[in-house]
Amino acid sequence: MTEQRRVIARVVADADDHPDVEELYRRASAVDPRISISTVYRTVKLFEDAGIIARLDFRDGRSRYEPQPDEHHDHLIDLRSGKIIEFRDEEIEALQAAIAERLGYRLVDHRLELYAVPIDDKD
Ligand SMILES: [Zn+2]
Repeated sequence: MTEQRRVIARVVADADDHPDVEELYRRASAVDPRISISTVYRTVKLFEDAGIIARLDFRDGRSRYEPQPDEHHDHLIDLRSGKIIEFRDEEIEALQAAIAERLGYRLVDHRLELYAVPIDDKD
């Protein structure tokens, strides 16, 4: 079990494409065929609760995961291709903190998702 957890941890750490549980299962079971999807579900939940990985929701009904980033970033979701682009913008960071402050709060966290289509997309 500990060994299986290690495989799943490695698969999450190696992913840079925000995979969902099914995809994590596909990759983990390619390394160790004894790993079941329910083990992946359980382990991912465990890692999430421990703050080792972050769960993301990009409105397609699937939870996606990434290693808890050292540096905060936000996401742009390409609605045509499903591609996910990570970005960080200091102006947005500062603006959000200023908005919270204006409302009487100190910002401790935020999540920003941009849903977009390519500019040269013709339909
Ligand atoms: Zn990300």
